[in-house]
Amino acid sequence: MDEWTQRRARMVEEQIEARGIHDPDVLAAMRRVPREDFVPEAMRAWACDDSPLSIGDGQTISQPYIVALMIAAAAIRPGGRVLEVGTGSGYAAAVMAELAAHVYTIERIEALAAQAAGRFARLGCTNIELRTGDGSGGWPEAAPFDAILVAASGPCVPEVLRAQLVPGGRLVMPVDDDWVQRLVCVTREAAGSYREDFLCDVRFVPLIGAHGWEGA
Ligand code: SAM
Repeated sequence: MDEWTQRRARMVEEQIEARGIHDPDVLAAMRRVPREDFVPEAMRAWACDDSPLSIGDGQTISQPYIVALMIAAAAIRPGGRVLEVGTGSGYAAAVMAELAAHVYTIERIEALAAQAAGRFARLGCTNIELRTGDGSGGWPEAAPFDAILVAASGPCVPEVLRAQLVPGGRLVMPVDDDWVQRLVCVTREAAGSYREDFLCDVRFVPLIGAHGWEGA
């Protein structure tokens, strides 16, 4: 086992499994995807640390545990179609691409989107489609999705995003304007109603856009 393979195995065991996430497919994907290739060169030594890291442009790659928690809560299955709002480094999209048939991901900052696209190409992630722009309104032409992950916090879960879920589909997103936000999982029920479950308190960068905070 090379050094990074060992570090990722330890990251999964000590930070993710130890906190109660046991989905074997999620754990295997997080062991496989080279997180160290999704951070700036200067941050590489800390890639597997138990914390978010700066990726430039005032943005972050999320803490490994939070990535695993969101993906496990979204119940991504083989054959699934997933939307991610907030590509950032591209790491979470690459993990989800190991689990789903197709991942659609949107990033509003062009420089980050370009870097993520380069990583996807280098790593051979052929089932990821990346778009630059405001993703707070989702990707209506590609909808419906089995799962939607929003990696930035908004004032509420936008109706326009919930409506892009299949019946039974799940949307995971941080909400609230406080320093600490609530990570919630919204399930679209068969009758067209929605159930919201609280997952944990989190701290995310803001969702900037038409259905997030203003300023896009
Ligand atoms: N999932 C990412 C990863 O694995 O590196 C981390 C995402 S980072 C916490 C949140 C990202 O959401 C930032 O890159 C930010 O630019 C982006 N973002 C914020 N508002 C957005 C919007 N309306 N549409 C698309 N991306 C947005």
